[in-house]
Amino acid sequence: MSVRMVLMGPPGAGKGTQAVRIGERFGVPTVSTGDIFRANIKGGTELGKQVVEYTSKGLLVPDELTDRIVADRLAQPDAAAGFVLDGYPRNPAQVDALDEMLAAADTELDVVVEISVDSAVVTERMLRRAELEGREDDTPETITERLAVYAAQTEPLAEIYVNRGILAPVDGLGEIDEVTDRLVAAVEPFLAG
Ligand code: AMP
Repeated sequence: MSVRMVLMGPPGAGKGTQAVRIGERFGVPTVSTGDIFRANIKGGTELGKQVVEYTSKGLLVPDELTDRIVADRLAQPDAAAGFVLDGYPRNPAQVDALDEMLAAADTELDVVVEISVDSAVVTERMLRRAELEGREDDTPETITERLAVYAAQTEPLAEIYVNRGILAPVDGLGEIDEVTDRLVAAVEPFLAG
């Protein structure tokens, strides 16, 4: 089944985990800008060196860099039949950039899922993840910054997609399997065509 989907949600909402599961479920690649940046930082690439000053502070990487890596990734053959985007777009300019990429390929988004979780719950989850995974940007300071960046720049995107009639809100509270089931049920009506 072809599915072109964006997964939105505050840091710590379980977006990354769900994005991988949903990609597997529908047989399309999951494209996570955060994962791509982390892999480049770890690998010491030129891109990694350019982005680490932003990611380490919880700030958004400049659009021109981010848009380019997404355009390159979506141009790969395995993404031709669909994708799950995790962590992109994150501001209105990236919404436009994604629209242009898809229009150039004569396609469009099917659905945008917004996973919502209470901010006290996400903060708690992220602090726990920091201990388990040792992610460098999971310090209390960057967690606060990333939540603020999400609220200011990313959350308003939901309205754009509501207006297009493709937003599917999903409650992110609960067991991982339960949330996956909720997500699949929420996106299916958008994939009928
Ligand atoms: P994430 O794993 O999605 O929380 O992303 C980790 C970090 O990568 C973010 O805090 C940003 O610094 C950067 N990043 C990921 N996606 C984007 C994006 N779409 N635009 C700008 N920066 C991004």
